[in-house]
Amino acid sequence: MNFIDMSPEEFCELVERVSRIAGDYLKDLSERAIPAKGTGAEIEQKFRHTPPEKGDPEEALRGLRDTALYSRAQNGRFFGYVLGSGEPAAAIADLLCSVLNQNVTAWRSSPAAVTIEKEVVGWIAQAIGCDQFAGILTGGGSSANLMGLAMAREAKLAANECGVRATAPHAVYASTEAHMSISKAVGLLGIGRENLKLVRVDERFRMIPDALEERMRRDKELGIVPLAVVTTAGTVNTGALDPLPEIAQVAANHRAWLHVDGSYGALAAIALPGKFAGLAKADSLALDPHKWLYQPLDCGCLLHRDPQAARAAFAHSGDYVRPFGQDPIESHVYFEESIELSRRFRALKLWFSLRYHGLESFRESIKKDLLHAQRLGSLIERTSELELMAPIELTAVCFRYVGDRNSTSPELDQINFDILRRMNERGRVYLSNATLHSKFCLRACIVNHRTTDSDIDEVVSEVLSAAREVRTVSPP
Ligand SMILES: *Cc1c(COP(=O)(O)O)cnc(C)c1O
Repeated sequence: MNFIDMSPEEFCELVERVSRIAGDYLKDLSERAIPAKGTGAEIEQKFRHTPPEKGDPEEALRGLRDTALYSRAQNGRFFGYVLGSGEPAAAIADLLCSVLNQNVTAWRSSPAAVTIEKEVVGWIAQAIGCDQFAGILTGGGSSANLMGLAMAREAKLAANECGVRATAPHAVYASTEAHMSISKAVGLLGIGRENLKLVRVDERFRMIPDALEERMRRDKELGIVPLAVVTTAGTVNTGALDPLPEIAQVAANHRAWLHVDGSYGALAAIALPGKFAGLAKADSLALDPHKWLYQPLDCGCLLHRDPQAARAAFAHSGDYVRPFGQDPIESHVYFEESIELSRRFRALKLWFSLRYHGLESFRESIKKDLLHAQRLGSLIERTSELELMAPIELTAVCFRYVGDRNSTSPELDQINFDILRRMNERGRVYLSNATLHSKFCLRACIVNHRTTDSDIDEVVSEVLSAAREVRTVSPP
């Protein structure tokens, strides 16, 4: 008696039925309201069941349909956070990934999968001008940042065989605009959050190289060992690009590891190589194909120049994982270059997606996002009730409603907060927020292959409609 397996025929039938649910979701996507249907309590009610003692395929399928129905519809007007739009060809390959169920931990457990991951990571490296880099796919930019900083620490403050490190005072440097995953990584690595030194930014939110140099020089006099300089290629708030060549020079002057957090921006180097000069100076570089290559979650990537440095940080082999044989290809092990041991075949969707559409299509799509951001910027500048709050470096557009310009700044903070809430409830356009110079701003971030020109135009009309609604409800 086999309790769980199904026949290949039953499998194919089920795939067809699930593909119809997915197809219906995609068919309705562009016209659907973005917010998930129902309140928190209603959704809990909908999905609350006793543990299913007996299987019920029809009920289970209805559950899938409900899941699609009660999910947020991330269509072409979704501009919150930095959230890629989930390209469907990749999603289809992801089904095969689960069916094949390869453990991409070592060549011997997944020969094709390891080969494909090496290949696709090489494509990405080449596409952004980092030809000599190797690397690995990760669960996201946060993991890639953690791993890059783990490598930095090992390179600069190696542990002895017992795992004990010299206790020289040490520091990691990043700008005040660095992503929260950097301070999280510094904390998790035991470096101590107080040893993350935040360097000032200029009026375009870019790290000031001279301020970094001065800070590092002062610390050197105090005997502090610089572990790493983290520079951001596309800050999460405004898409600012730290001046990489200059920062790289400062890091080199002080023999610090250079980690680039390119989780948001670095993949735009595929379309704009000139804007990302110096990327190849990184010792390690975090990227996020689930952001600006539109891959379904999750798919992050860490690139580095020296696989030996990755092994120094992550190899802790036990006898149960000893490789057999000496063939350089067949003895490849990812678990010695990664936090993860068992690893999902993330490369398959990315590899399929790139082959299906071609790199050219991704380049054009990234360019379209960049043009859309410029379009939104000009619309905002032509609308007297709106004000652009930061230069548009990539595709993050920060702005605020200023009405007739007679409100105080704290009043505007409240008005914009209310507008954001109201607009996201209206459900046509979804934005998030940023605080710049202590001012609450609306923020649209365009990394969305579905967005059209008219979707962009709706951002402005929706903000103005929400503003009218807010102002009628609560007179100033
Ligand atoms: C999104 C983002 C991260 C974190 O990446 P996840 O994939 O969400 O873990 C780190 N840094 C920047 C600049 C980001 O935009």
